[in-house]
Amino acid sequence: VAIVLGTRPEAIKLAPVIRELLARSQEFRPVVIGTGQHADLVRPMLDLFQISLDYDLGLMQPRQTPTSFTALALAALEPVLQTVAADAVLVQGDTCSAVAGAWAAFHLRIPVGHVEAGLRSGDAANPFPEEMNRRLITRLASWHFCPTAGNRRHLLAEGVPDQTIFVTGNPVVDALLTIRNRVLPSERCQQIIQAAQGRRILVLTLHRRENQGDIMAGYLTVLRDFVASHADVELVFPVHPSPAVRAIAHGILGGTARVQLVEPLPYADFLALVQEAWLIASDSGGIQEEAPTLGKPLLVLRQTTERPEAIRAGVARLVGQSSARFRTLLEQAYADDRWTCHLRQVVNPFGKGDSAQRIVTALARVLGVSLHKVAV
Ligand code: UDP
Repeated sequence: VAIVLGTRPEAIKLAPVIRELLARSQEFRPVVIGTGQHADLVRPMLDLFQISLDYDLGLMQPRQTPTSFTALALAALEPVLQTVAADAVLVQGDTCSAVAGAWAAFHLRIPVGHVEAGLRSGDAANPFPEEMNRRLITRLASWHFCPTAGNRRHLLAEGVPDQTIFVTGNPVVDALLTIRNRVLPSERCQQIIQAAQGRRILVLTLHRRENQGDIMAGYLTVLRDFVASHADVELVFPVHPSPAVRAIAHGILGGTARVQLVEPLPYADFLALVQEAWLIASDSGGIQEEAPTLGKPLLVLRQTTERPEAIRAGVARLVGQSSARFRTLLEQAYADDRWTCHLRQVVNPFGKGDSAQRIVTALARVLGVSLHKVAV
């Protein structure tokens, strides 16, 4: 089974699946292909799960665009997939690496399994280009591993045959539980938490393409003012390496009291930080799945979400792109701590931590492989 991945969330979510395939060495041989889309963020994640790349395409370029990157990835993946001669290709989610992996495999008539299938925001411009990427992958894939029953319904409505859809949960839950239980936070992470001196920690992540520019500046200005007017709040922002994000983050928040702009954190550290958080504000997709697992309240900094399950579970609130609404929701969360208390009881809509096992079981079934019992 060839696994194509290129970005941090793909590494996080495919790592448990790769580990499950490795544990079943009688039946499967995973071959991991990294496109290098976000190489710096992927490597530490794979190290954490003791996974090495069999092929590292190293395709990242300065100022890459979705088109330039996808074109490079398509061209580079074809010969590698030909050499590997896999029985199946797995891709995850909605990145340009995932589209390129699925499309290159399709051209070679290798069936594609799509992990995290069936998410839809219903708006091709949000998130961009991911919403279109995931729709394209649906058309190219033979098997669809959906996190939730709602995702399955989206695919059925688009005419995807029922027998090709498997509701498996999302392996992000597996990844989170594995790392939380096994890896201690680093000294650097402990220093970040200690620097907050018991204040309420607001964890921020923000980098999405459709937020860059005025919208991002609006969110950051609201946060700067909110921190300034609440002396018991500390903002911790692991700043994404994207140059556009760095410039605006340092421009608006640089040198502000009780604001820590830090480098992206290793996954275990990030989880440890979130566990100490009073509130999260983020435009990430993965964090919408992690928040219910960790029982933490989340303000979603997006126009729309393809993960309504987190909102229905009462964990997440959708901000939209309005600064005024963001300010209101922050003040509400500050004034009323019932939101945080209620969260501890939520049932995680994204699974129990057995998704990798369920995906590999389904994969074995469609490939006609019988599984032996293994201690994973
Ligand atoms: N994350 C991390 N370190 C950080 C910030 C985020 O490990 O400093 C993790 C986070 O837990 C989540 C993922 O990175 O699982 C989110 O990645 P990103 O926002 O790049 O992508 P998305 O989730 O939107 O696809």
